[in-house]
Amino acid sequence: MSGDRLRTYRGKRAFDRSPEPSGERRGSSSSRERFVIQKHDASSLHYDFRLESDGVLASWAVPKGPSTDPREKRLAIRTEDHPMDYVDFEGVIPEGGYGAGTVMVWDTGPYRNLAEAEEEGAEPPSVADQIEKGRVKVWLEGEKIAGGYALVRTRGSGDDEQWLLIKMDDEEADARRNPTSTEPDSVKTGRTLDEIRADEEEED
Ligand code: MN
Repeated sequence: MSGDRLRTYRGKRAFDRSPEPSGERRGSSSSRERFVIQKHDASSLHYDFRLESDGVLASWAVPKGPSTDPREKRLAIRTEDHPMDYVDFEGVIPEGGYGAGTVMVWDTGPYRNLAEAEEEGAEPPSVADQIEKGRVKVWLEGEKIAGGYALVRTRGSGDDEQWLLIKMDDEEADARRNPTSTEPDSVKTGRTLDEIRADEEEED
């Protein structure tokens, strides 16, 4: 099933040229579901927000990145599902390829589904169900980004869906923080975008 869901992802990429994972390996074995926010210095700098769901990473491109202020709604464009092993991917996508540019693991951690069952005794809707319905509520446990976040679809369907990424008003909300500017480096390796790029060039 996840094979089919990755068809768009694979169709856009040449894995003999790009260091990105092809997703041949199946999803994570860890018990807790994960999210990742990748800073992506492509034709324009943006943040890719990805949530593990049904063995793949459901994905949105967030031009300004997440906010910790509940009043700052951030535009999030739905993009193709990515393979689970993309959760750790940091490196450089070569020029000429889809998404060419430097990718950094800006923040990552486990998350949990915050949705409640619609009726007593029923199962709460899965994240996949919520994506389908256009309203997702999750609790993130990253190093920079934590607490409740809502994703709400505002327009379109399929490839050009527009959503909003909104910090929920909870104890992790903080209008004074601005982690995209005060904590710009990789949570995985501590590197800046320039350092990731330079390390790649050295390897060539
Ligand atoms: Mn991207």
